[in-house]
Amino acid sequence: MINKGMVYLVGAGPGEPKLSTLRAKELIERCDVLVFDNLANPELRKWTRKECIQIDVGKSPGRHTVEQRDIEKTLVEHAVSGSMVVRLKGGDPFVFGRCAEEMLALDKADISYEVVPGVTAALACAGYAGLPLSHRECGSTISFLTGHEDLTKEELRVDFSKFAQIGGTLCIYMGMSKLEEIVEKLLNGGMSPDIPSAVVSNGTLPSQKKIISSLKDLVSSTKNAGLGAPAIVFIGNAIGRTGDKANWFEKRPLFDRKIVLTRPTGQVSKFKEKLEQLGAEVMELPLIKILPSEDKKLIAEVFAGIATYEWAVFTSANGAREFLRLFFLAYGDIRSFGPMRIACVGESTAEVFRSHCLEVEIVAEKSTAENLAKDLVATDSLDSANVLVVTGNRNREILVQMLEDVGHAIVDTLPLYETDFTDVTEASDLKKFRELGADAIIFTSSSTALSYIEQEDDLVLNQGATKPIICSFGPETSKTLSENELTVELECANPSIEDMVSKLVEYFS
Ligand code: SAH
Repeated sequence: MINKGMVYLVGAGPGEPKLSTLRAKELIERCDVLVFDNLANPELRKWTRKECIQIDVGKSPGRHTVEQRDIEKTLVEHAVSGSMVVRLKGGDPFVFGRCAEEMLALDKADISYEVVPGVTAALACAGYAGLPLSHRECGSTISFLTGHEDLTKEELRVDFSKFAQIGGTLCIYMGMSKLEEIVEKLLNGGMSPDIPSAVVSNGTLPSQKKIISSLKDLVSSTKNAGLGAPAIVFIGNAIGRTGDKANWFEKRPLFDRKIVLTRPTGQVSKFKEKLEQLGAEVMELPLIKILPSEDKKLIAEVFAGIATYEWAVFTSANGAREFLRLFFLAYGDIRSFGPMRIACVGESTAEVFRSHCLEVEIVAEKSTAENLAKDLVATDSLDSANVLVVTGNRNREILVQMLEDVGHAIVDTLPLYETDFTDVTEASDLKKFRELGADAIIFTSSSTALSYIEQEDDLVLNQGATKPIICSFGPETSKTLSENELTVELECANPSIEDMVSKLVEYFS
């Protein structure tokens, strides 16, 4: 068991959240107080408990820098009051992280601590840029150096002219503001002007950039490419062994693309993961929220008569999930489902049933309520049949009308959830979206489109931001968008996450 009143000095890893350790994740999930600085990816803070107190001690423009001794005081104060404190530092806490000072302060206050190593930036940047740090023939030592240790200190801490002679690979942290001087010192110290060099900024993040050049051209190449901090400078023959060839990270098809998802939070994880694996940076702007329907009496009536239905028709995965949740609450046993046949509007809705080993007889070929109705009518099984239509509060009229008027079915509707617009000003990624824009925005339903249109004033992009292309999951959503003068660039042929992802890959390749 983890004792309270303890401080964990935790390495957050270099940027990509998945490069943090299991130990780091478990401690962040449990801690009472999280003290972080700006190199630790904000995503990691989402792992905390709701009650966790988060304290930002990072340096940021326009803000008073928190003094090191105040950071130490904060750690001590919270630990003394019995809290489990995580002090989160970018990369590894022992690599240019002022960890010694914090440990000494904790020792002095007689507070127990534990150190959790992290993946340091030099190793992560090298790996993600495909630059080997060692090589059997030309790289037998690896040095970690720092340009400066403190932004307020003017001079270089390290005598770079001496490092010109040691060979191997140099990995320079915090070297960007003094790059010109560092290069000059290395050249004056006798290092070859042609030695391979590289700069990797924002390593492991979707915004990673790298340049490779000879030492003599390093400063101009870095400037021309507009690379800034945080960055690692690499110098050495080993890193020249792969050059631009081993560019695995930046070569991924959606690398450096910003993609906006508009589905409710909590429903985008699979989609987000797929896009991120292909290199995209995902922004979440949830435009709708799904609320369970409150009509308990109607729900009870439908479930009491469940055995009387010949068809159950589902127009959304949300409806399908909520239906099964209530079904199991009422019956607790899949056998009570009876012989009712199942029809679904699309693959993701059908998946909900298949995952419970229930066969889905109809999945509309083109995922619209209207097509689903046509497919059902074509089965010739609706005349006087009892049909249950499980829906949200939108898009059901046409379906019900066709089943009744054309198929002559007896239809009961069961609205199990309501779709409501969210207040987009509350979305945490809104500021970023307005500032930078995005490459694509994805509308999964007419309701996300309508919510966007209603709140367009709050979504106006700042000058210079990238205008995203508009992507739609299906014809109904596209219709809503184009009726409101939004030009749809991409539309799924077969609405599914997989189809949208492959359309995006095709478009951006
Ligand atoms: N403890 C950290 C280093 C802190 S010093 C670690 O182990 O990585 C801060 C410096 O680390 C930055 O100025 C930069 O040189 C480097 N750095 C941190 N994260 C980086 C990243 N994602 N990409 C490139 N350099 C990074």
